[in-house]
Amino acid sequence: MLQHMQQGYSLIEVIFNAQDQPLDYRFLEVNSIFEAQTGLVDAVGKTMRQLRPAHEQHWFELYGQVAKTGQSVHVEQHAAYLAGGVWYEVFAFPFGEVQNHQVAILFNDITERKQRQIGRELLISITQDLGQLTDETQIIRSVGARLAAHLGITGYHYVDIDEDRDQATVRHCWHALDVPPILGTYPLHAFVSPAALANWRAGKPIIFRDIEREVPDGTAEAAVLKAGAAAQQISACITIGLSQEGKWKACFAVADSRPRQWTAGEIELVEEVAGQLLPRIERARAEAALLTSQKRFESIANLVPDLLWDSNPDGSTNWYNQRWLEYTGQRFEEAIGWGWTDAIHPDDQAASARRYSQAVEAGTLLRQEHRIRHHDGTYRWFVVKAAPLKDETGQVVKMYGAAIDIHGLKRLEATLREADRRKDEFIAMLGHELRNPLASISNMLLLLQLTQGADSSLPYPKAVDQMSREVGHLNRMVDDLLEVGRIRYGLIQLHKKPFDLVPLVRQTVELTRYAYAEQQRHLFFASPVTSLMVLGDETRLVQVVMNLLTNGLKYTHKGGRVWVSLQRVSDSSLAPQALLSVKDDGIGIAPEQQQAIFDIFVQGETPLDRPQGGLGLGLAVVKQLVNLREGQVAVQSGGEGQGSEFLIHLPLTAQAAVEPEVDLFMVPAAGLQGRVLVVDDNVTIAHSTVRLLKLMGYEARARYSGSSALEEAQQWAPDVVLLDLGMPQMDGFELNRRLKEQSWGQTMAVIALTGYGQQAHQLQVKQAGFSGYLLKPLQLAQLSELLNEVMGR
Ligand code: ADP
Repeated sequence: MLQHMQQGYSLIEVIFNAQDQPLDYRFLEVNSIFEAQTGLVDAVGKTMRQLRPAHEQHWFELYGQVAKTGQSVHVEQHAAYLAGGVWYEVFAFPFGEVQNHQVAILFNDITERKQRQIGRELLISITQDLGQLTDETQIIRSVGARLAAHLGITGYHYVDIDEDRDQATVRHCWHALDVPPILGTYPLHAFVSPAALANWRAGKPIIFRDIEREVPDGTAEAAVLKAGAAAQQISACITIGLSQEGKWKACFAVADSRPRQWTAGEIELVEEVAGQLLPRIERARAEAALLTSQKRFESIANLVPDLLWDSNPDGSTNWYNQRWLEYTGQRFEEAIGWGWTDAIHPDDQAASARRYSQAVEAGTLLRQEHRIRHHDGTYRWFVVKAAPLKDETGQVVKMYGAAIDIHGLKRLEATLREADRRKDEFIAMLGHELRNPLASISNMLLLLQLTQGADSSLPYPKAVDQMSREVGHLNRMVDDLLEVGRIRYGLIQLHKKPFDLVPLVRQTVELTRYAYAEQQRHLFFASPVTSLMVLGDETRLVQVVMNLLTNGLKYTHKGGRVWVSLQRVSDSSLAPQALLSVKDDGIGIAPEQQQAIFDIFVQGETPLDRPQGGLGLGLAVVKQLVNLREGQVAVQSGGEGQGSEFLIHLPLTAQAAVEPEVDLFMVPAAGLQGRVLVVDDNVTIAHSTVRLLKLMGYEARARYSGSSALEEAQQWAPDVVLLDLGMPQMDGFELNRRLKEQSWGQTMAVIALTGYGQQAHQLQVKQAGFSGYLLKPLQLAQLSELLNEVMGR
């Protein structure tokens, strides 16, 4: 019966040593399938140690225990040296008298079942491990190590497949043996055979048990396969194709350096483990890519100057860039959630929250402006934009926001608006100011016309005088306008040279005395020092002093007083300076006006119909001219009705005057200054110029054409001819040439007057032999300077 059982059977006698330790056992009887199940041939009469010296100790212990105790056992145990490694289910029970130490054994080969069971347990444990891992390399290493420990394999590979590009990339591999590394990318068709390809695509594993024997020689493919296997010391392997959504994406392979009969359980295990790998690895890669892109995003987000965040539909926030935290001084944990509301200006909070909800509701872009508090406590204006992120149903799930600092822009906008307002005011005032003298002139003209000049209330000299005065006023305004333009656009050229401020101021004061007397104001000048050398441009400085003196006249009442004084100041921290003070007891300046009056177009609260209208440009000119020569101008006034004092500081220079002082202004002297013939086809201009020259103390006459001028020059013999270049018939160049042809004309100085300032034109004038050159409209100072020069004074 025993012989016909499906179970293996043997009767053994356990051999003990003197200490009662089981040493070995001898086979007394075996049945017919014993040999097939154990691989032991002719066992009867032999001991186990004789047959398999390495047989595990636990087997001897097991049977020794049964023999000694007389208790039967039922176990499942592994025997590595029997039949190439086998799991047995064993029933062992005592046989006969205990002192005989005989044990009967019934056993089954349960290797297959056992391996499946272990495989399943391993699979569960691997699955648990995978759940913890997020890094691709860690995933492969952990799985590979567990398989290697369980299957005793000597290598594994994970290969990315890209069929579209015909590429196979070995991403991960491990070898227990020393073989050349094969990480890298290979052409797919060279990497695998068409048959293997078909297998993998169909989801079937490719299994070799002994490549050398199994693969028939004779084909190139076989040769490549065998050579590769030999190089990598692979005899047996299981390779599994991994697909996702119908696309073949990767391969996982385990290899053994020895030929090997893979059991069905082993193959199944490798298949199942491999099946889990692809989704895990894909997820790990996606997470890594997300992390990289998140890192990239954050580093860019921290580079931009704007404050960035993302927020939820309810307005709470999840993330801020570094700039927000730096700007507000909030910590990240403080800021996220609702911390941001604390940084918004209390006056802006309600409106901002409302617009945010509206944008979320409508799913539209949010754009608004509000103030955000800087960590130093000040608020700055920001323009805030937020874009909605919607889910498939169109619901807003997030808002991505950015705040851009527009504080500077806002301020600029306000400044521009203010400048624009001032300009409008200025234009209105300019119109008004120009209209007064124009109305007065046209009235007089009308009167002259109606009365044919016969009205005794307006005799010719009086009419000319009054009209000249008005024209003079107009001229001054136009001069101021031009001057401001020139200074603004940097067209002013300062001819810096050392000169003495004391005589210059004194002369300018003297020059205005007449106007002060006429308007019943008193002008005082005091200078305890006799000389104050400064570096600069005399003409411009005269202009500065003149503007201040004119204001003194305009902004005092009848009988008012203006004091001009000069002194030298120095304290230890400053280089010595000249201080010019122009002080009056006039209408004064309100404190809030004191800064602004130096701006272009700014005037105090004076009614539009001032008798002494100006354009609000004088002080702007003063300030800019003084600043140009590194000086400073300031005003002091106790307020309205308290008088004002203008103070100008100019750095002193150690240099001495290079030229003898020139009287810049034609202080009318006794006796004639010289004769000037004005030639201009524009009768009005010619007349006004003549009047001007006369005021300056010259004898002057006008002619309106080249030919009449030629006659007059011969008869009257002027020292200087002031010649308009652009005249009809005989132009200035022609007249000049003719004059120079005459014997009497050779020494006559001819000054060209022109409206064109181009260099080419200037050169032409120079070459034509003119003594000088003046641009229209005439600048008093320049005219005076040039006349003095050509007349040799
Ligand atoms: P304008 O005199 O043409 O108005 P300014 O630039 O010279 O232009 O002066 C600007 C403003 O400063 C004046 O409109 C006036 O309100 C104020 N201001 C100038 N000088 C004085 C002064 N001496 N006393 C009081 N106010 C003055």
